[in-house]
Amino acid sequence: MILLLFGPPGAGKGTQGERLAARLGVPKIATGDVLRAAVREGTPLGLEAKAAMDRGALVPDSVIMGIMREALASPAAARGAILDGVVRTTPQAEGLAEILTTLGRPLDAVLLFEVDEEELVRRLSGRTTCDVCQRPFFGRAPGESCAIDGHVPQGTLVRRKDDEPDAVRTRMQVYRDQTAPVERWYEAHGDRLVRIDALGALDEVEGRVVRGLGLA
Ligand code: AMP
Repeated sequence: MILLLFGPPGAGKGTQGERLAARLGVPKIATGDVLRAAVREGTPLGLEAKAAMDRGALVPDSVIMGIMREALASPAAARGAILDGVVRTTPQAEGLAEILTTLGRPLDAVLLFEVDEEELVRRLSGRTTCDVCQRPFFGRAPGESCAIDGHVPQGTLVRRKDDEPDAVRTRMQVYRDQTAPVERWYEAHGDRLVRIDALGALDEVEGRVVRGLGLA
């Protein structure tokens, strides 16, 4: 099963994507995670992407398509994948469709996570992330220890550069200008769209996702 999670930054795609991936037994592929790992490791990909990411802009479509081509062809994705934050421009939607056609694998559904912008800004500006497991936290300060998973060494919560106010504003603008119009592309191509009200507790939203996909 190949599912695409679509929606603005901070809508909960990452968290719900993890849950869905565990439920379906398929990997979650998030271009943001792949890029952040590349930045941490200082690879050529990371060096190319870092400046755009830090200010909340998009990295070039060609870079994203390279990541997706490799990830979708890997044995880990043989049974399916949850794609998180992967399509952010119309050329990326076209590119992904082409890759999937070449691989002979249909896109089963596009999940549209809907949350109003005020709530998104509130969420992102209160978000810290573990520097070891990359998990997001809300209402916990930078410098606190991540008490999840018992990492050795224990991770520390940090604020992502792109969760700083200026970068959050840029990301919202980029979403409105370049990403939101992609919804119409999927509508026009007859893909199965599943709208998710992404406001509320994690378990509630998960319930909507599971029902929306007809998994329960
Ligand atoms: P995310 O973790 O999905 O919020 O992504 C973090 C940052 O990585 C974004 O603000 C972009 O700079 C970059 N990025 C991730 N996915 C994409 C994509 N599909 N297209 C362009 N840039 C992306």
